[in-house]
This record gives sequence, C-alpha cells and structure tokens, in this order.
Amino acid sequence: MHTYGHFIGGKHVAGASGRFADVYEPMTGEVKAKVALASKAELRAAVENAREAQVAWGATNPQRRARVLMKFLELAQAEYDSLAELLAREHGKTIPDAKGDIQRGLEVVEFAIGVPHLMKGEYTEGAGPNIDIYSMRQPLGVVAGITPFNFPAMIPMWKFAPAIACGNAFILKPSERDPGVPMRLAELMLEAGLPAGVLNVVNGDKESVDAILQDPDIKAVGFVGSSSIAEYIYQGCAATGKRAQCFGGAKNHAIIMPDADLDQTVDALIGAGYGSAGERCMAISVAVPVGQATADRLMEKLVPRVEALRVGPSTDLTADYGPLVTRDALERVKGYVQAGIDEGAKLVVDGRDFKLQGYENGFYMGGCLFDHVTPDMKIYKEEIFGPVLSVVRAKDYDEALRLPSEHEYGNGVAIFTRDGAAARDFAAKVNVGMVGINVPIPVPIAYYTFGGWKRSGYGDLNQHGPDSIRFYTKTKTVTSRWPSGVKEGAEFVIPTMG
Ligand code: NAD
Repeated sequence: MHTYGHFIGGKHVAGASGRFADVYEPMTGEVKAKVALASKAELRAAVENAREAQVAWGATNPQRRARVLMKFLELAQAEYDSLAELLAREHGKTIPDAKGDIQRGLEVVEFAIGVPHLMKGEYTEGAGPNIDIYSMRQPLGVVAGITPFNFPAMIPMWKFAPAIACGNAFILKPSERDPGVPMRLAELMLEAGLPAGVLNVVNGDKESVDAILQDPDIKAVGFVGSSSIAEYIYQGCAATGKRAQCFGGAKNHAIIMPDADLDQTVDALIGAGYGSAGERCMAISVAVPVGQATADRLMEKLVPRVEALRVGPSTDLTADYGPLVTRDALERVKGYVQAGIDEGAKLVVDGRDFKLQGYENGFYMGGCLFDHVTPDMKIYKEEIFGPVLSVVRAKDYDEALRLPSEHEYGNGVAIFTRDGAAARDFAAKVNVGMVGINVPIPVPIAYYTFGGWKRSGYGDLNQHGPDSIRFYTKTKTVTSRWPSGVKEGAEFVIPTMG
C-alpha cells in the first residue's frame, strides 16, 4: 500500500510523527493509501526550508518566476488524464468533473503568469517640490495554504500560483482525504524549474494546522473549508498577527421567477445540485420557485430528472456523479435527510437506499429531493454537502430575495428569469458574494475574484484575480526628494505637499 509522506525542500520525506490517516477510494470503499500526519517539528522543518529558499526566489525577476509557471502549465496539461484519474479515485468525483477541477486551477496559473504586470507599483512625479512618490509590491516571505478535500487540484493552485508568482515561498497543507494530486502538482512545479523549498507540501490534520497558526515565520494563511474551521483559522491568525483569508461553507439558493425558461432552469438545477454528489461549495442546495404555479410546474419537471440521475463509479464516463468522499460523509448526509423528514419537509425523491452492483462497499447515494422546506428547518439552515436539493416555495419576489440575503451563508446565488429588470434588481440587492443570472454556478473566471460573504468568507481580500496579488504582497511607499542644494532648515510641521 502506498504511503504519502511530505514534500519538503524538493524531496519526498517520510512522516516521522508515527501518526497516519487512511486514504480511501470512495468508489470501492477500499483504503488505497496511508497519509502521514505531520507533527509541529515536521511543519517547522518545512518552514525553515521555505524561509531559506524564499530569499533568492523573491529576488528573482518576475518574468523568470512567470516562466516557471508557464512550464508548469505545459507539464500539467501533458498529464491531464493521469492527474484526473488519480483525483477521481481519491475524491470520488467522475473523471470529466476531475478534469474541470484541474482546469479551473490551471486558469489561475495562467492568470498568475501576468505577475510582471500585476505587481507593478505606482509612481507620481513632482508630488511636491523636487518630491517623487512611488509604491512597490514586495512578497510577504513564507505563506501557507490549508485546503479542503472537495477540489484537491483547483484550490491548491488558486493558492500557490499567485503566492509563488509574487515571490513568496509556500507551505501547502492539503486535505488529508485526497493528498495525491497536491503532491504531484508540487513535483511538477519542481520539474518546471521552481527552486527546491519554494513549494512544500506538509500533510496533516489539526496538529499541523495549529503549528501553522503558531509559527512566527508564516506571514499569511489562505484557508478554504468549513465555516467553523474558517472562523477558527481567522481568529488564530489574528492572534498571531498573520494576514488571513478564510473561506467557508455555503447554502446557495436558486431563485426561479415565473417567467424563467423552466427546461433550462431544470437542467441547471440538476447539474448544479447533484454534480460532484453536491460536494461543491458553489452547489445549488436550495431552489426557490416564486409563486405556487411556478413551484408546481417546477416540481413536475424536476422529479423525473432527479429519479433518472445516473450514479456510477468515478471511472464511469457516463455517470452524472460518483460516490461521496467517505462513509462518514455518506452517513452525515443521510442523517440530514432523516432530520428533514422528522421536521416535516416532504421527501419527494429518496435516494438513500441506492446500491451499485459490483461496488457494494462504495460510498454511493442516489439523489434526494425535498419539497415544502421552510427556513426554520435544520436542512435549510445547515450545509448538507451531498446530493440533496431542498425546494422552498416563496410567495413573491420580495420573499425570494430575502431568503438568501438573510441566510447566514453568503457564497453564491442564482436567479433564473427572462426579465432583465428583475435580474438587475436582484444582483444589486442580494446580500451574497457571487451572483449568477441564468448561470447556476457563478464561479468567477480567474481574472476576477472569488469569495463569499457572511459566514462563507472571513477577511477582506478574495481569492485569485487582482485581490490575490494584493493578498500575497505588501505595499511599500517611498517618498523621495533630491535636494537642490539650497538649505531650508529643519521642518517641525508634518510635511504636506500643499
Ligand atoms: P474541513 O473544514 O473539514 O477541512 C478543511 C481543512 O481544514 C483541511 O485541510 C483539514 O485538514 C483542516 N481541518 C479540519 N478540521 C480541522 C480542525 N479541527 N482544526 C484545524 N484544521 C482542521 O472542510 P472539508 O470537509 O475538507 O471541505 C468541505 C467544506 O469546504 C465545505 O464546507 C465547503 O463548502 C467548503 N468549501 C468552501 C469553498 C469556498 O471557497 N468558500 C470552496 C470549497 C469548499
């Protein structure tokens, strides 16, 4: 059985803590590998390595740094198929969906290749008599990323590509559930010409995360995962003076207006609600039809589509979605479905007993659909993170706008309508960070930024796009004067450019 250690200083290093976690293949339910869980000392070794490597890397000109990313793109693209298969086998999502996971990460690498331009400072000539002012962006030093299981390629790349492009050294602490792809990406960065030590992967759990929070040489932490841990990381970073951006869970609503094209809307809801078994932070988990007639027409079209979902092993190219990530995740999602029934929601499609022949030990679940869900129910308030869609019937537009706006999560939201004025009003007023208009999963493209509001995101700068360059650099502003030779004497009043 394969054992993942760590990747430190450009080398594979065996775990020394004596603690390991199992890495499953969700489609068969078998343990396929073990992953070492780092101790504080092992995390520290990675930081020391990174600190040393960062000095020369930060002094390397940005074009050369970008060229490493260009080469990395080429290498990763050449390995697309094998990376996607590894990802699908450890995560459970289908191979075509795994390719999307890799692609959305590579697009941020493409963005980060623009770093020579993105890092340019500002300059004002003659801000005062003989005075020029300029600002420059400099790397922070050693920074860290702590990432979730559900996008093991995309989110590590969202973190390390801009950080490294800006001249930082990076410690990646990926999810212990699917460490294979992050480890391979680090090897490919080395092959692409990244100096050893600039990107280190430390596998682990809470112990290594706490070591990151406490380490005095780590200057910033980018986190993605569940909201309670995001909040914990944000507080831990504040306590030790680190810069932090921490993205959390979600409850993404889709508002369906009476004039929406229902066939298109149902396609969108099926893909966004059940794709990747609902294990996406931008999955649609709540559908809000506006008006009883819209709700009835929607249910009529939605029910047969949920019943017809094709659940299959991750390697089945025709499957709509694969298994959940672990047995615990499966049991947790089934627990939510039971809670929904107990609270009086109407379970219209029940996929809990789904079994796949030949894969009886895999972590599979059929699609579930609830109707008549209300805002006081646990299945509405909490993130289920499984193939379960809840329909909440709104009597009018104002109620539909209020639901996502008042929910404690605020990651993504979508509206389906043919009415431009309604869409415009909704986009302007809704209290959520990312909005789709007839687009169910509005993950912004790499050169815009990604981030949710409320309990979906802690910190003021988003991921990727221009915010990522701001997050991974600090600004230095220089005010310079070349005196003419005339001695003006001491000045006791704060200088103004008046
Ligand atoms: P998680 O919070 O369990 O784990 C995320 C990371 O935190 C992992 O690296 C894990 O090892 C670490 N961790 C777990 N428990 C910890 C603890 N007690 N102390 C310190 N560190 C700990 O999340 P997950 O299950 O891997 O991922 C799913 C969650 O991530 C969902 O809530 C999903 O919505 C969210 N997510 C959010 C976004 C976003 O951009 N907002 C994107 C993807 C996933």
